Amino acid sequence: MTELWIPLKGIPAEGQEYHFTDQSLWTGPMRDFGLAAKPGRDFAARMFILPQDDGFLVTGSFSGSVMLPCDRCAEEFEQAVAGEFESFEEPRAPGDDSLDECRIRRAKGILDLDASGYLWEQFMLALPTSPMCSEDCKGLCPRCGVNRNQDSCACAQDKGDPRLAVLRNLKLS
Ligand SMILES: [Zn+2]
Ligand SMILES: [Zn+2]
Repeated sequence: MTELWIPLKGIPAEGQEYHFTDQSLWTGPMRDFGLAAKPGRDFAARMFILPQDDGFLVTGSFSGSVMLPCDRCAEEFEQAVAGEFESFEEPRAPGDDSLDECRIRRAKGILDLDASGYLWEQFMLALPTSPMCSEDCKGLCPRCGVNRNQDSCACAQDKGDPRLAVLRNLKLS
């Protein structure tokens, strides 16, 4: 897992911008978590960190793409993945050892933001749960398995299937 910690101590009061283009920030966890995705267009992220009284305001955006199998037809296609984010991150109070997700670690009194974990979380949030090669993907024929985007099969027109006829009659009676 590629880890990237941003030291928060030196960030000036007016905030600081960071840019990320190291692809392993995305491809690393994709591999580690066994995501069925291959790298597409390179990812890039921008993050602005603004110190507040008791934490840090984190804003930014990212974009890139991955190659994924379509949920309907199983063909690999390019899925754009992009998003914007804004969140308030605060360090855990000393002595607080709850298991709540915390993106800021405190080591020997020094605060660091888990930028790699943050960016991965944003990537996962932006990834569609049912990726599709196109909105009107026709999918695979459930009977012969042909990819209906590329081919037509006899089953599609086959209205005379005796088994279906039986079902239709059942519904009518
Ligand atoms: Zn498809
Ligand atoms: Zn078919």
